[in-house]
Amino acid sequence: MKLNLNIQPLHTWIKTGKEPLVIAGPCSAETEDQLVATAHLLAQTGRVSALRAGIWKPRTRPGEFEGIGSIGLEWLKRAKAETGLPTAIEVATGKHVEEALKAGVDILWVGARSTVNPFTVQEIADALKGVDIPVMVKNPVNPDLSLWIGALERINNAGITKLAAIHRGFSSYEKSAFRNEPMWDIAINLKTLAPELPLINDPSHISGNRDLIGYISQKALDLDMQGLMIESHIDPNVAWTDAKQQVTPAALADIIDHLALRKPEVRNAEVNDKLAELRNQIDKIDDLVIQKIAERMQIAEKIGNYKKDNNITILQVGRWDEILQKRTNYAKALKLSSEFTEKLLELLHSESIRKQTEIMNKNEAGQAAEKLTHV
Ligand code: PEP
Ligand code: MN
Repeated sequence: MKLNLNIQPLHTWIKTGKEPLVIAGPCSAETEDQLVATAHLLAQTGRVSALRAGIWKPRTRPGEFEGIGSIGLEWLKRAKAETGLPTAIEVATGKHVEEALKAGVDILWVGARSTVNPFTVQEIADALKGVDIPVMVKNPVNPDLSLWIGALERINNAGITKLAAIHRGFSSYEKSAFRNEPMWDIAINLKTLAPELPLINDPSHISGNRDLIGYISQKALDLDMQGLMIESHIDPNVAWTDAKQQVTPAALADIIDHLALRKPEVRNAEVNDKLAELRNQIDKIDDLVIQKIAERMQIAEKIGNYKKDNNITILQVGRWDEILQKRTNYAKALKLSSEFTEKLLELLHSESIRKQTEIMNKNEAGQAAEKLTHV
C-alpha cells in the first residue's frame, strides 16, 4: 500500500545543485555574532543549500538553555541577507509558525518531540493552512512509523506540498554508540510507502558525537536519501546545546568532500547487464528460499497434527534450543552472523508455532462442533 501524499519534488523549493543536498547550521542560535559568522563560513564552503538554527529549543529539563527566542529571527534575517542562504527553523506551536512566517523564514521543520504528539502537529498544521512554505517533519522520538506518517499527512492535508521527512534516529533504552538508534528499516519503510517524499538524514542527532557523522552520512546516501541536515557551529566545543555533535564549517566541508556519491541507476550498458545477471541469480535464490520455507511449514503442520493426536505440547524448549544451537553454528561456518541467523530462525519458529496453534484450536473447535451435532 502506498501513501496518498501530494508532494512537489525537492528541487522546486531548495537549490539542490551540488550533491549531496546539505542543510547546516548551529543547533541553537546563541548570539547574533555566532549565527552570522557561522553562516558566512558555511556559505563560503559552497556546499550548503540552507542555514538551519534552533530559536526555540525543546529541552529535556527545565533551566537548560531553551533557545534565544524571537530575537533570533532578526539574526536569521541578517544572516540570509548577507550570505544569500535560505533559512530553516524548528516550530513547535501555532505561534512559532506565525512568527516565523512574519519574519520571512524560508523552511520550517517539526521536531522529534512534536511529531510524537498529534495535538501539537495539528496545531502546527492549522497555522499553516493557506500558506505556501516548505515543511520538513522529523521522525518521532519513539520508533513508531505511524506517528511519523500521521504527522506528514496532517501537514500535507493543511495544503503543504513542499514536504520532506527527516530521519534523526529513535530513542532506545539500550545503550549503544549512537545517541539515537538509526533503525534504518523504519526510514526505508517510509521510503517504500512514499517513494516521492524526499527523505533527509540528520546524522548529528543520530550520532550525538561528531566522529560518527561521516559514517552515518555515507550510509544515508547509500540508502538513496536525498540530503543531509548537519549541525555546524563556529566553535563547537563552547556551543550552548549539543556541543559534542557539532562540527566547524571547515570540518563539515571535509566530511562532505569525503562522501562517495553513488547513483541508484546507471546508464552504462555493461554495468547494467552485469547487474541484471546478478539480480537474476538473486531472484532464483529467493524463489527457492520461499519454496523451501513453504515445505518447512507443511512439515510443521504435520508435526502439529501428530502432537495433537499424541497430546504433546506445541513447544518443547529443549528441541528449540537444539535447533538454535545447531543452525547458528552451521550458519556461522557459512559466514552468516549469529544475530541474523537467530532472527531468521525465531521468525520461522514463531510462524510454525502459530500454524500448530491454529491446528490444535481448529481440531478442538471441530471436535466441539462434532459433539454438538451428535447431541
Ligand atoms: C534539533 O534539530 O536541534 C533538534 C532539537 O532535533 P530533534 O527534534 O531531532 O531532537
Ligand atoms: Mn541539536
